[in-house]
Amino acid sequence: MGLFNTLHLQAPCLACGVEIPLVLQFKYAENWQYEYKINDQLRWNSRHPRSNDGTPGMKHVVLSAISEDCPLCQHDGDDYLIHVYNDVLTSIEPDDQRYNFFDAQRDYLVLEE
Ligand SMILES: [Zn+2]
Repeated sequence: MGLFNTLHLQAPCLACGVEIPLVLQFKYAENWQYEYKINDQLRWNSRHPRSNDGTPGMKHVVLSAISEDCPLCQHDGDDYLIHVYNDVLTSIEPDDQRYNFFDAQRDYLVLEE
């Protein structure tokens, strides 16, 4: 999978239901193991555009993300959506499969440029 970034927030584990420090892995903007929180601004590499996924400054992008282990029940691998507005990590939700990342052949979809 190579380099990715993570989003850290408090949210209920989808398996045990307990609120945990949830960690979501995603690939968007500069992929360099950055650790973000909700409402953080994404970082882009302006000198090496090839280390970026996507284009800076899009109005609304949805990212496909995957959860790391729950510290209580060790459940992992849930699919999530991360909503990005103007390069800010704004909200998450469990992935209900309404976006087709497979057909798009990438882990993000630009909903509004
Ligand atoms: Zn759990």
